[in-house]
Amino acid sequence: MSTGPSFSAVVQPRRPRLSDTIAEQIEGLIANGALKPGDSLPPERDLSKQLDVSRPSLREALLVLESRGLLQARRGGGYCVTDVTGPVITDPLVHLLQRHPSTVDDVLELRHGIECIAAQFAALRATDADIKKLNGLVTRMRKRKGEFDALEDADRDVDFHMAVAEASHNIALLHVTRGIFNLMRINMLRAREALYHQQDNVGLLDEQHAEIVKAIAARDPAAARKAANLHLSFVQASLREVAMSDTVKPGARSKRVRGRQAEDGGAGLDAGSPSDPLAP
Ligand SMILES: [Zn+2]
Repeated sequence: MSTGPSFSAVVQPRRPRLSDTIAEQIEGLIANGALKPGDSLPPERDLSKQLDVSRPSLREALLVLESRGLLQARRGGGYCVTDVTGPVITDPLVHLLQRHPSTVDDVLELRHGIECIAAQFAALRATDADIKKLNGLVTRMRKRKGEFDALEDADRDVDFHMAVAEASHNIALLHVTRGIFNLMRINMLRAREALYHQQDNVGLLDEQHAEIVKAIAARDPAAARKAANLHLSFVQASLREVAMSDTVKPGARSKRVRGRQAEDGGAGLDAGSPSDPLAP
C-alpha cells in the first residue's frame, strides 16, 4: 500500500467578513495606484464614514492590511501605505554594472522601452491630479535661477520620470522604474554635468519633458509614446556624443557635485570610461 499525501475533506468557506471586504477595497486602491507609497489614510473616524462601516470593522481591516505588509501604522496614529516596490535590481547585477560599462547600455535600453510604455499608459490613465503634478514638475524645472545646478536638476528629472510612471497606474511598471532609477541616479547626475557643457541642451530637455506632459494631458497615447521615445533617443545620442568626444573633464565638475559623489562612496557606476553611456 502506498503512503501518499493524505487529503482531508474541504470545509465550505464562510461568507466573507465585512473587514475582508473593506481590506479588499483598500488593497484595490493600492494596486491601481490611487493610493501611493507614503500616502496617509484618512483618520479612522472619516474613513469609517466614507466606507459606511463601523470603526471596529475598519480597525480589523487595517490590521489585516498591516499584517500583509501593505499598510504601516504611523507613530502619531493612523496608517500610511507601505512602499511595496522593493529593490528590483539585484546585487549581482549592480556588481556587473559597476565592472562592465557596456551593461549600462543594457539598462538604458530597458529604460528607453519602459519610459515609452509609461508615457503611453499615463496618457490613457492619468488622473487630473497626476497631470497637475506633472505640469508642476515641468514648470519647476523651467524656473531655474541663475546658474545651472546639475545635482538639483538631475533629482528633478528623476522626480519627473517617476511621476510619469506613477501616472501610468501600473504597479509593476512603477516597481521596475524605481529600480532602474535607484541604479542610475549617479549616471543621471554625471550626464547632466556633461550635457551642461552645451547649455542649449538644458532648454531642449525641458521642451521634451513638456511635450510628454502635453500629450498625456491631451490623452493621446501614441503622441505620448512618441514624445518619450524622442526624449530618450536624444538623451542616448547626446551621451554617446559626449562619450566619444570625452568632454567630461574631472576639473569641470562643481565642488558641490564632487562632494556628493564622495558621499556616495563610489556606489554609482564608473563614469570615467569614455564608453560610459550616461542618462539624464
Ligand atoms: Zn528626462
